[in-house]
Formats: sequence, structure tokens, C-alpha cells
Amino acid sequence: METLVQALRALQEIDRDLYKAQAELRRLPAERDRRRDELAARQAQVDQAREQITSLQLRVKEIEGMTVTQGARIRKLEKETLSSRDMAVVEACRYEMRSLKRQIDEAEREGLEFVEQAETLESRIGELNEQLAADRSAFETFQAALEIELTEAQGLHDELRAKREERMSDTLSPETLSLYDRLIGARDGEAMAALEGKICQACYMEVMPNLVVRLARGRDVVQCPSCDRILYRLGT
Ligand SMILES: [Zn+2]
Repeated sequence: METLVQALRALQEIDRDLYKAQAELRRLPAERDRRRDELAARQAQVDQAREQITSLQLRVKEIEGMTVTQGARIRKLEKETLSSRDMAVVEACRYEMRSLKRQIDEAEREGLEFVEQAETLESRIGELNEQLAADRSAFETFQAALEIELTEAQGLHDELRAKREERMSDTLSPETLSLYDRLIGARDGEAMAALEGKICQACYMEVMPNLVVRLARGRDVVQCPSCDRILYRLGT
């Protein structure tokens, strides 16, 4: 007749690997998502730079439109200064013309700055796109390898699950199983610990003598008071 501890240890032998396979099955898609997010973020940078360029080009056009209007106004004022005999009118025209020329100079300087900014952005986009192309191709390679790894991990996982089914014993009550499963999750796949003398071999703490006696009787589940793991006697 299989003892409780033997039944649990039989499961533990499989569950150690099953825990790793499950972790792999979570890790691989998470890694893929992380890389995919990185690519999307880089693409967003390119898109944002493109939008900035469009808005800069729009402003350059506005400036051009404005300077054309102001240029026409200046030519009209010039004619007025030539035709008018009223010195006050001529002075007023000249004053406005000077002001308009200043505005045009200012606007053209600004326009030039925008053009330069757009050029800088354009070359930045070139760099980003190059990086993106390299990253995309690396991602393709990664994804192909990942598919294989996932299939393997899934295969191993299914195999272990089937083996676990076979080893599942009637000796184990639902309470014991649920405690054991919780410990597998909480203790990185190691729910059991050997007791050597009075020392737990997982956390190296000494247990009380009564626990050693209870464990020797082998009728119930005995947990290490420090690390919670289910104890078994070394050599059993
Ligand atoms: Zn312990």
C-alpha cells in the first residue's frame, strides 16, 4: 500500500518539470508580446515624426502665403508713395512698408528654421526606419524559433500531464492535493522537502521532535513550520 508521502513524492517528481514547462508556456508568449510592443513603439515614433513634418510643412506654406500678401501690400504702398504729394501719407506708407519688411524677414527666418527642423526629422526617420527594418527581421527569426519552442514546451507539458494522471493516487484527498498544488505554485515547483534528522533540507531549519514522530508514523501530512513544504523522511 502506497503511503501518502510516497504518493505525493511520485507526483512531485513529475510536477517539478511540469512547473517548468508551464512557466515556459507563459514566458514565451510574454516575451513575444514584449518584443512586439517594442516594435510598435518604434513605429509610433516614426509616425509621430511624420506628423511633425507635415505640421511644419503646413506652417511653412502659411508663412509663404503671408509673405506673398505682405509683398503685394508693399508694392501697393510703394506706388502710393510715388503718386502721393501729401508728405504725411508718404511717411505713413514708408512706416508701414518698413514694418512689413521686418515682418517678412522675421517670417522667412522662422520658415527657414521650420524647414531645417523638418530636414532633421526626415533624417531621424531614416535612421528609425533602418532600425525598424532590422528589428522586424530579427523579430521574424525570433518568432519562427518561438513557434518551435512553444510546440516543444506544449508537447512536453501534455506528456507530463498525462504521466501525472497515471500517477495520481486515491491515497490523496482533495485537501491534501490542494495544499500540495498551492505549495508547488508558491515554492517554485518544489512542494516537498526531505527531513534529515531534525533538519528540513529545503530551508535548513530544525523542526520540533514531535513533528519527527508524526512524520515517522506516516499517517498525516506534516509541513515544515518554516517553509511550509510537505516533509518526508530521507530514505523513505
Ligand atoms: Zn523547511
